Amino acid sequence: MKKISLLFVLIFALLFFLVGCNFSSDGKLNSYTLDCHYDSASHTLSGKEEVVFYNDYDNAIDELKFFLYPNSFNEGKEAVSDSYFNRAYPTGEESFGDITIESVFCNGESLPYSINDEGSILTTSLVSEIYPDETVTVEIAFTVNLANINHRLGYGENTVNFGNFYPILCVYENGFVLNSFASNGDPFYSEVANYDVTLSFDDSFTLASTGDVVSESIDNGVKTVKISALKVRDFAFTLSENFEVVSSSVGDITVNYFYYDEENFEENLLVACEAMEYFSDLFGEYPYKTINVAKTNFCFGGMEYPNLVFISDEVADAVTYKYVIVHELAHQWWYSLVGNNEYTEAWLDESLTEYSTALFFEEYEKYGMKYTDIIDGALNSYQLFVSTYESILGDIDESMNRNLGEFSTEPEYVNCVYTKGVLMFDSIRDTLGDNKFFKCLKNYFEDYAYKISTQNDIIQSFSKSAHMDLTNFFLAWLNGEVVLGN
Ligand SMILES: [Zn+2]
Repeated sequence: MKKISLLFVLIFALLFFLVGCNFSSDGKLNSYTLDCHYDSASHTLSGKEEVVFYNDYDNAIDELKFFLYPNSFNEGKEAVSDSYFNRAYPTGEESFGDITIESVFCNGESLPYSINDEGSILTTSLVSEIYPDETVTVEIAFTVNLANINHRLGYGENTVNFGNFYPILCVYENGFVLNSFASNGDPFYSEVANYDVTLSFDDSFTLASTGDVVSESIDNGVKTVKISALKVRDFAFTLSENFEVVSSSVGDITVNYFYYDEENFEENLLVACEAMEYFSDLFGEYPYKTINVAKTNFCFGGMEYPNLVFISDEVADAVTYKYVIVHELAHQWWYSLVGNNEYTEAWLDESLTEYSTALFFEEYEKYGMKYTDIIDGALNSYQLFVSTYESILGDIDESMNRNLGEFSTEPEYVNCVYTKGVLMFDSIRDTLGDNKFFKCLKNYFEDYAYKISTQNDIIQSFSKSAHMDLTNFFLAWLNGEVVLGN
């Protein structure tokens, strides 16, 4: 995600080289078959999902756990922090949403299930243990009620956003990892899986989604679209009755830009194409056929999903809008392909994504943002944050590697994770020199594409590529020991 801090806006007023992306269905990946209908009159989505879980671990597993993000819009939950309230709720009134689990079945047998107090985790007990290398298929029926909110999940004036809308398997690491909701950052963590999706909705809507459309039909005013998305970390979509679409291509990749109320669409499509080409050259090939960039009703700057990014229609400044497009597209490499626990280690994808964005504008100076200005701007922002917060709070925590729940304010999160992240990677580049630094990025991407990386993994990967132990270097930044004062 890209949070546009006010200061920032002011400062800037394959590894799998499968040509044509012929991914074979890897039997070791989990798979989701989703069949969902959106009823625009009631703003509800009724869905069924069949999840095939593959036990790729060393021990038997007797239950499955799923993350239920739609319940973060329940009454009493903080869907957005106070500073985003007005941008989030189009009517100025709070609005609520949720997910109801209708049933859970396995082999025709109803399974017992429970949901924790927070509403974030669905647990289903399995009839028998699943041993290593075995699979189990679970069918879940659910209903999602959308809030009237400009958010990842919700309906606004122009778009209906479906980010993180279905029960998604928690990642297993000696037990399922259970993240909490958080109004800051992206509290998500998932593994790459194969998706077979059928969506139906009023035929007045245009769809932008993860994956590739396989077929489309219209019957009695209802459009049904079948989508295949292989080896992706998540599945999301957005609908609009106002979308117009322009397309171009970069090599084998089709780049689509979905927009409304806009004159700059050609320029925004161009910057998306340039970003896809630049990052593919710099980090490693984008291995999918399609990337969809969609303008949406969204209270933050933008949001990333595999093959799909949301760009907020509230970003008024043309250059900042391009900045957000580039940032969200860089996430295709950092978050989507190279995965991480975005709740416990948000810096891992956000710092690298924000720095990758600076690299793009270094290459494309025609957009009027100089690399040195971005770095200087980041330093000024960070110093201002430190001096302001120190004068109010005394000592402040400057560490970057905290979980989302441990950042006390939005500016603290943005400055420690995004702004300082840019400065950290600039400093690593300065230390290593361009050749070594860019080799580190390429090797890191190659080693972790489709996998999950951690703080330790990136440190080890960079150290190996640089032939230099960078542990203390990284830790000094991450633990907040590097002083960036005036
Ligand atoms: Zn981001």
